[in-house]
Amino acid sequence: MIDIYTIIQKLPKNVNYIGVLTGSGISSESGIPTFRGKDGLWKNYRPEELATPYAFQKNPVLVWEWYEMRRQVIKNAKPNPAHNSIVEMEEFFENFLLVTQNVDGLHEKAGSKNLIELHGNIWRARCTYCDYKEFLNTPIEKIPPACPKCGHLLRPDVLWFGESYDVKILNNVQSFFNKCDVIFVIGSSGQVFVPVYLVKQAQLQGSFIVEVNIERSLYTSFADIFIPEKAAESLPVLWREWKNSLK
Ligand code: NAD
Repeated sequence: MIDIYTIIQKLPKNVNYIGVLTGSGISSESGIPTFRGKDGLWKNYRPEELATPYAFQKNPVLVWEWYEMRRQVIKNAKPNPAHNSIVEMEEFFENFLLVTQNVDGLHEKAGSKNLIELHGNIWRARCTYCDYKEFLNTPIEKIPPACPKCGHLLRPDVLWFGESYDVKILNNVQSFFNKCDVIFVIGSSGQVFVPVYLVKQAQLQGSFIVEVNIERSLYTSFADIFIPEKAAESLPVLWREWKNSLK
């Protein structure tokens, strides 16, 4: 473990606004594989070959089967101490926002409330034609599922590679992040560029960036502090000590 007390000394003492950005690394100790980890492949397909509008158009059954497999893995997963520390941060600070790239719903399960799921939620499906959305329980009876309202295909309500973000949501995140005294970036490779941009812009406005990741990422080159540790092990210790220093 790196010297936690040196880190605490570097962290801002006056904190009014705090942001957290998480990626799939935070859920890996809950047993959910990351995309770029060793368990990323499924039937020899890379996630980038399945999580696209093109793949769904070509073979919706294959894409739904992949999501169904992931939903089965996620179904039994429980939030870990890193998710719980973020809930405690939210309870401690008045102005708090958690932005996640994860679709697994574990932050909500842990009790996070002020939460933006930037890439959607794997438990939700939406119609490819009309405005119908619903939470689907596993297992899905018939793959691919059809919209009960108009009969067209339902798709997972997640953001796929090559799809656009909701600009209004991005603007809201950016304006909050720009006010942040500290932003924690936890378990994200930075291969998805938009979240990196949001954090970098916030830093240019004065946010102090703390990264927790077992490996270097695209965030590491500009983070003010890089903690090369597992999130579920390091974040609870870091949070406990920092909270004590703020009291
Ligand atoms: P990524 O797979 O690209 O990167 C994961 C990062 O987590 C890596 O940098 C890795 O070093 C780090 N990491 C792994 N284990 C860690 C640990 N125990 N503690 C700290 N860091 C750890 O994931 P990403 O950056 O989130 O982006 C890829 C996309 O993957 C996102 O759009 C997301 O929607 C999707 N995804 C989500 C889930 C999920 O919901 N749990 C799972 C897989 C992929």
